[in-house]
Amino acid sequence: MNFDLTEEQLAMQKAAREFAEKEIAPVAAEYDEKEEMPVDLIRRAQIQGFASVNIPEEYGGAGMDEVTLCLVTEELGRACAGIATSIGASSLASLPILLAGSEEQKKRYLRAVAEGKLAAFCLTEPNAGSDVGSISTTAIKDGDSYVINGCKCFITNGGYADFYVVFAVTDPERGARSLTPFVVEKGTPGLSPGKKEKKMGIRASNTSEVIFDQVKIPETNRLGKEGGGFRTAMETFDLSRPMIGALAVGLAQAAFELAVKHAKERVQFGKPIAAQQAVQFMLADMAMQIEAARSLVLRMAYHVGKRQQRLSHYSAMAKCFAGDVAMRVTTDAVQILGGYGYTRDYAAEKYMRDAKIMQIYEGTNQIQRLVIANGIL
Ligand SMILES: Cc1cc2nc3c(=O)[nH]c(=O)nc-3n(C[C@H](O)[C@H](O)[C@H](O)COP(=O)(O)OP(=O)(O)OC[C@H]3O[C@@H](n4cnc5c(N)ncnc54)[C@H](O)[C@@H]3O)c2cc1C
Repeated sequence: MNFDLTEEQLAMQKAAREFAEKEIAPVAAEYDEKEEMPVDLIRRAQIQGFASVNIPEEYGGAGMDEVTLCLVTEELGRACAGIATSIGASSLASLPILLAGSEEQKKRYLRAVAEGKLAAFCLTEPNAGSDVGSISTTAIKDGDSYVINGCKCFITNGGYADFYVVFAVTDPERGARSLTPFVVEKGTPGLSPGKKEKKMGIRASNTSEVIFDQVKIPETNRLGKEGGGFRTAMETFDLSRPMIGALAVGLAQAAFELAVKHAKERVQFGKPIAAQQAVQFMLADMAMQIEAARSLVLRMAYHVGKRQQRLSHYSAMAKCFAGDVAMRVTTDAVQILGGYGYTRDYAAEKYMRDAKIMQIYEGTNQIQRLVIANGIL
């Protein structure tokens, strides 16, 4: 086994770190407080290539692997999990196009992401969260067009996307067996963002409903064959879940660094709290968990990225383990900062709020455990 990163990977990681430290970290608290998405900053991050790391060069991407995507995402997540989520959402929405789209669709939409256009991945509905098979949004064929009706909820970038990848059933009687992805461009009549969610964390990321009311799109906006949607959605998650794991590792790393700094500076009982073994043991556990999560994420990303076989349980392990680690580590960071950790003067409370979503989106961690168990059994 070789754990060394290539020169290209190191260069991409460095570029992401520099961008994250210079551009994202300084504004993270402000946008979190305002519950506003820094749209221009996210576009600039995409133009830097951070949402297209694993997209082939002929479609505007960097043509690198899933490991590199994870290295980049960890850096973005370390600066702000909310902003990283919105950049990641364009990356996520690119995957069904990469997996099922035609040459023309790939050239048009994947290039658009690399040029800074925002994308949204629309799967979840009010009555279809973990249970993707219950999707009721319809796309009914009408000559050379489809007419889409339905409501998607909790959609990242939902209020701002330049295009939406939406999963709808083409035959309500066949239900999920007719699930099919489509691209709907912003400005299409009948497409509108609904309620914007007010969230516990990742507040610099826009999350909203997306409503489809008699939205007519050309047949050429269908991704792949009718009925291929369930498989495309699951293959998308196979590739994207390690990325969420990496985001969680970055978030945990940021909380850990803050806790170490505070433990060295805060004096109680005449010495820094870092001199207390109880605090040292917490720091040691945090460091161990982060290293374990990072190793698992990168290794799973390596295997999944080869795309030789479906490895859904590997992706699920990366997302689930790293998400749980982020929750534990950020909670411990708040504990190490004591009362200060509970105030908004320090980033610890934001890290803890941001961490919770790592156990919920892209499939809850209960669902990840089901996927892992399926893989085993
Ligand atoms: C901030 C945010 C951003 C999001 N971004 C997107 C996006 O961009 N695109 C998109 O399509 N979706 C997005 N989502 C939706 C997200 O993926 C779902 O919220 C998630 O999959 C869970 O679905 P649900 O909320 O309906 O919960 P439910 O499915 O109702 O689950 C509720 C609880 O029941 C548990 N549960 C349900 N079924 C089972 C089972 N069979 N076994 C064990 N436990 C079970 C769950 O684990 C959970 O704890 C986002 C959500 C949020 C909050």
